[in-house]
Amino acid sequence: MNLILLGPPGAGKGTQAVKIVEKYSIPHISTGDIFRENIKKGTELGKKAQEYMNKGELVPDDLVVEIACARLLEDDCKEGFLLDGFPRTVYQAEKLDEFLAGCGRKVEHVLDIAVEKEELITRLIGRRVCRSCGASYHIVNMPPKKEGVCDICGGELYQRADDTEETVANRIEVYEAQTMPLIDYYEKAGVIAHIDGATGLDNVFADIVSVLG
Ligand code: AMP
Repeated sequence: MNLILLGPPGAGKGTQAVKIVEKYSIPHISTGDIFRENIKKGTELGKKAQEYMNKGELVPDDLVVEIACARLLEDDCKEGFLLDGFPRTVYQAEKLDEFLAGCGRKVEHVLDIAVEKEELITRLIGRRVCRSCGASYHIVNMPPKKEGVCDICGGELYQRADDTEETVANRIEVYEAQTMPLIDYYEKAGVIAHIDGATGLDNVFADIVSVLG
């Protein structure tokens, strides 16, 4: 099962990814998570990526393609994978297709999760993430039981550096300009399914399952 989650920042890709990988037993590959891990560890890759991420811009294509393909070569991806946040440009999608074709594989499903812009902004600005396990909360819509503390692991909740008001606006613009053309790209490939991302977490997941079977 070779899957891609597509959708603007704040559409709920990360939240749905957790549920999808649990049900279908495939690894969750988030290029954003890989970059944040590298920033935390202070690696060269992290330093390079951070400049772009803090402004809400895309990390250069070739750098992202290299780390994504290296990850896809790992053993746990043999039976399938869920890509979250990659590809984000048509160039990345073409490179991914070339890479998969070279391994005799292809993208099987692209799940395009759509949410209104106003709602995305509210979701992103109020989002808080657990530093330890990555679980996602919202200060109003999905608050933790105890403020600032993860319900699941007791870790500290923080606001991502790119979830501030001005960066969020830029990320959505970048999505519209550079990532939305992928909808057409995967439409032509006949692999895309459109999911309404505003129907609530469980309904969105049910819609995804009905596509994947
Ligand atoms: P995400 O966690 O998916 O929202 O990604 C956070 C940030 O990481 C993005 O705003 C980009 O700066 C960078 N990033 C993640 N994935 C990609 C990608 N496929 N192409 C370019 N930049 C990326």
